[in-house]
Amino acid sequence: MFDTLDQVIERIREGERFLVMGHIRPDGDDISSVASLVMILRKADKTAEGCIADGRSPFLERLDRARIIKDVDGLRDYAYDTVITVDASELPRIGDARELLEGRSPDITLDHHKSNLGFGKINICDPAYAATAMIVYEIADRLVEFDPELAEMLLLGIATDTGFFRYASVDERVFSYAARLVREGANIGRIAEAVLEHRTLNEIHLATAMLDTLTLSADGRLATAYVTAEMIETAGCTNDDTSGLIGEIRSIAGVEVAIMFIESSEGTVHVSLRSKQSVDVSEIAFQFNGGGHARAAGCSCTNATLDELRKSVTAAAEDAIASAFRT
Ligand code: 5GP
Ligand code: MN
Repeated sequence: MFDTLDQVIERIREGERFLVMGHIRPDGDDISSVASLVMILRKADKTAEGCIADGRSPFLERLDRARIIKDVDGLRDYAYDTVITVDASELPRIGDARELLEGRSPDITLDHHKSNLGFGKINICDPAYAATAMIVYEIADRLVEFDPELAEMLLLGIATDTGFFRYASVDERVFSYAARLVREGANIGRIAEAVLEHRTLNEIHLATAMLDTLTLSADGRLATAYVTAEMIETAGCTNDDTSGLIGEIRSIAGVEVAIMFIESSEGTVHVSLRSKQSVDVSEIAFQFNGGGHARAAGCSCTNATLDELRKSVTAAAEDAIASAFRT
């Protein structure tokens, strides 16, 4: 069903002007994949721009080279002949960047979500890759020479999507690509500091308020918590400051599934789901029109209140846990 790296390389060689698109609520892998691919294409003497529609992640401001990524308004007049999406499991994940496509489907999609059915003309979607940045690494390896900035941008995605080399997705290939990137000049300490050690005092206050909502159920295997739009505002935070909250409750001993409900001021509720070993949380997210990976998934819902979703998603997770642990 999916295409080969050879086809991708051949299509890239044919193109002149590229638009690379990532997904909304971008994580490190998404930012890494968009920025690295733009850097690679420019090194290969192509014209290239990168777009992420919304959810300005703090990484974008903090990492110098991530600032090459633009928003939709910055690219309305940009003429391109080839569109590549990265780390997006379905077209709606690119958010308002769809406007730039004007009804076309992407020429190439690069992704590692198992739920991805391939919505472009040439599709690489292989869940065996721990990060989309590893597919981008392979493109770099075929097309250009590495330099320290490109190496570090690629390592950002591999590091963040593997929880800094500790998730079950970490295999020998992860370490071998990471080793090469370090040899090419990437500094993992700098990435760790930029990602893990830049929490603001306001984010800590929000985390404290969130912990007051923490509930354990299913014999301690399910942890849920939430933040309301009002809690986010009171802490002096924005929705972009909420991505670290889920890790706090996933880390509790005995918890298999962690769920965080994040209410936005526009009334949307984002649900983040994580698991450790046995439950495929993408299947729970899928029931609410979301998706993702077995161990990290999510959905955004506009048609239900925070309280309704807390009930329905919690019930779905309790069912999933009950089936996974049935003896
Ligand atoms: P997060 O909970 O950090 O927002 O997202 C975790 C993962 O879940 C993402 O990397 C992505 O794979 C997936 N995900 C989050 N929200 C959605 C959504 O609305 N739709 C789909 N298909 N996947 C999502
Ligand atoms: Mn990813």
